[in-house]
Amino acid sequence: MTDTTELIRRNASFAAGEFKAGLGINPSGNLMVIGCVDPRVDPAFVLGLEQGEAAVIRNVGGRITPATLSTLAMLRKVGQANQTGKPTGDWNLVILHHTDCGMTDLAAYPELLAAYFEITPDQLPGKAVSDPQGSVRVDAGIALREVSRDSFLVSGLVYDVDTGRIDTIVAPTRGHRTAP
Ligand SMILES: [Zn+2]
Repeated sequence: MTDTTELIRRNASFAAGEFKAGLGINPSGNLMVIGCVDPRVDPAFVLGLEQGEAAVIRNVGGRITPATLSTLAMLRKVGQANQTGKPTGDWNLVILHHTDCGMTDLAAYPELLAAYFEITPDQLPGKAVSDPQGSVRVDAGIALREVSRDSFLVSGLVYDVDTGRIDTIVAPTRGHRTAP
């Protein structure tokens, strides 16, 4: 087990070294990443993110569920409340799924999955939980429909846990929705 004493020791090193003071609450890269909780797919590492560059949402599978949409709506309000120093220009919404996702193991628990997506079990095939290329297409489609506006680009990526490489499944696409 990595214990808390060890974590506090590492933090002391961080605070004395890499810590950057004065970062803004808005991500400096106008970047939002939605990814899986899997320890192998931390966006900070696999996408080489800098401190303060991206807002990252992680859940089981990196899925766009109703809860994810609520989180995005809340973050939009936070952004509206913090206009000072806010970067201008397009936003990049990146959905990052991966191979060997533990979500595949949950296919045996359709009730659990259906509750997660707030759908009925018979609708689960539409969520492609056993196919990362399919699932990232499904979620990019939801993002383009539900959360993106003209100023949003949506991408769907799949990370390969065996090679460390990423395939672009959905190239950056401008959203359809124009409402605020
Ligand atoms: Zn996963």
